[in-house]
Amino acid sequence: MKTLSQTDLAVLELINKEAKRQEDGIELIASENYASKAVMEALGSPLTNKYSEGYVGKRYYGGNEVIDEVEALAIERCKKIFGCEHVNVQPLSGSPANAAVYFATIKPGDKVLGLQLDHGGHLSHGHPVNFSGMLYNFTQYQVEKETGRIDMEKVREVALSEKPKMILAGFSAYSRNLDWKKFKEIADEVGAITFADIAHIAGLIAGKAIESPVPYFDIVSTTTHKTLRGPRGAIIMCKENFAKAIDKAVFPGMQGGPHDHATAAKAVAFGEALQPEFQTYAKHVIENAQAMAAHLMKAGFKIISDGTDNHLMVVDVTSKGISGKEAERVLDLVGISTSRSTIPFDPRKPMDPSGIRLGTPAITTRGFDVEDTCKVADAITQAIENHSDETKLKSIREGILELCRKRPLYDAKTA
Ligand SMILES: *Cc1c(COP(=O)(O)O)cnc(C)c1O
Repeated sequence: MKTLSQTDLAVLELINKEAKRQEDGIELIASENYASKAVMEALGSPLTNKYSEGYVGKRYYGGNEVIDEVEALAIERCKKIFGCEHVNVQPLSGSPANAAVYFATIKPGDKVLGLQLDHGGHLSHGHPVNFSGMLYNFTQYQVEKETGRIDMEKVREVALSEKPKMILAGFSAYSRNLDWKKFKEIADEVGAITFADIAHIAGLIAGKAIESPVPYFDIVSTTTHKTLRGPRGAIIMCKENFAKAIDKAVFPGMQGGPHDHATAAKAVAFGEALQPEFQTYAKHVIENAQAMAAHLMKAGFKIISDGTDNHLMVVDVTSKGISGKEAERVLDLVGISTSRSTIPFDPRKPMDPSGIRLGTPAITTRGFDVEDTCKVADAITQAIENHSDETKLKSIREGILELCRKRPLYDAKTA
């Protein structure tokens, strides 16, 4: 950052401080990842200077010959990854993408069936403080108290009694595979539109490690910055018969000009996801998550649904005499970033819930294998069990630093 070092030391210092925090810490926040240097170079390119409202070949500004090629390339690569009929690559992030999906397909007040928020759903799936919950009539299916899993027979029962216009499948904190085919059958039975939000698992689907909803569902949205490891942003895929409505809802419905530098970075990330190594990456993410879950369970933690099929897990930490918020704080002290999380049927309050959510996409990008991951699980256990022993916490922090130095973030491999 030669120029910035000459023009704005204040911002440069903050960027360097954050880079060091990332380098010296273990990132277990399930929605985070490390974009490649190639992705970041595209983000920092002159494409940020352009206005290009409209779509390929139909812009409301001149000078878009190159941008048209950039957007067309992103679309082509995305179709190759997911095999979708249509894709809009302009959504600025996951929540605006979901807003565009609702805007394109249903009316305010219409009923949508989605996963209950404190059972793993997302804010934009009908939380009362979110536009989705204010504008639309969300009703919920849950996970089972005994198993921590979604029971598709129960989903069918709720769908038959509620008769929603749309059925939403997707989550931010659920560690089991969804039965896409069964969701589609239920939706067909009640005449509902099918909408999958694969924000968390898109990279695992791109890497062919878990099943895709794209063949079955009418509409599929995803962020591009989680397991997919691209720039912050989102895309909406759909069947051809929804293409016009989706495009109109994104622009001019919800957004103005697309972020062309982000579109280029999405194209770069899609190019990376098309490489055979990305399939190895997706497989390793899941292997690491399963190793971590097994290790934590052996140490006496309760994992919701007793394990994971994907990159994440929700851990009930209360059996160790600590709350989710306190666990998040103690782990921060030793250099492990996590996020507090409600557990299904949580007896505690959302600001200080019973659990933490852990994910392995970021550490796997960094090159952590199963052995490294088990060391992290040990550190988590040690830190939580010794949460008021400052000396002990300090020595755990040293161990974490050692692990980080062994697996530098942007070495030749990921750069
Ligand atoms: C992260 C997430 C989003 C929102 O993405 P933002 O880019 O943060 O707006 C939407 N849906 C699900 C399921 C998510 O996990």
